[in-house]
Amino acid sequence: MFFAVFIFGLIIGSFLNAAIFRLHSGEGIVSGRSKCVHCGHVLEARDLVPVLSFIFLRGRCRYCKARISWQYPIVELITSIAFILLASNYELRITNYEFWIQAFFICTFIIIAVYDYKHYLILDKVVFPSLGFAFVFAAVSGQQPIVNSLLGALAIAGFFGLQYLLSKGRWIGLGDVKFGLLFGAVLGLKLSVAGLFLAYFIGALAGMALLALNRKKLSDKLPFGVFLSTAAIVVLLYGEKILAWYENLTGL
Ligand SMILES: [Zn+2]
Repeated sequence: MFFAVFIFGLIIGSFLNAAIFRLHSGEGIVSGRSKCVHCGHVLEARDLVPVLSFIFLRGRCRYCKARISWQYPIVELITSIAFILLASNYELRITNYEFWIQAFFICTFIIIAVYDYKHYLILDKVVFPSLGFAFVFAAVSGQQPIVNSLLGALAIAGFFGLQYLLSKGRWIGLGDVKFGLLFGAVLGLKLSVAGLFLAYFIGALAGMALLALNRKKLSDKLPFGVFLSTAAIVVLLYGEKILAWYENLTGL
């Protein structure tokens, strides 16, 4: 069963890679065949096997030998690992519709993270349809009261919006404010506040690591959407456990 989820995650991950590329190039997400970004050669099935093609081709295009980005196998593996963790959360009941809802949001967060990392941009056409879906899900399922989603969205977007206004867009981008709506709506008030702390913590760690490795200067801007997305996925998977641990610790 784990193996099936692992393979399924790899396939979805490779679809996410294609979606990230096509969101940028403006091609349709579903239509058209995958091509090498360097030579334009149409890729065959044997070139598109997740992770394995990358290993067998030693990270180069079969036709023009140009380097293929590490993004491809990394996104495939991350998606796959996230799906396995999610499946083990639901004790492998992938017949549970909650599994699929959460898997959908994990995919959204992965797309936002990679796109922001590459292009320093969070796309409205990714954020707003997912936001609509989050509210519909909250309204229909009763799993998460819609008030909780609304409060989460307002709290996180309000927090970012205030920073945006105060700094006239220097501390934080408008894309982060809109992403704050989605972040809060998916996680709900309590978990989204926990997720926000986690995002800043991850951001600080990453910033220090990059400074130590001399990869970035203090003045460089880091794409905050990457840290928010990472935190959102962790909280989606383990939020309830993190909260329980925290409440236990502080006796609240
Ligand atoms: Zn090529």
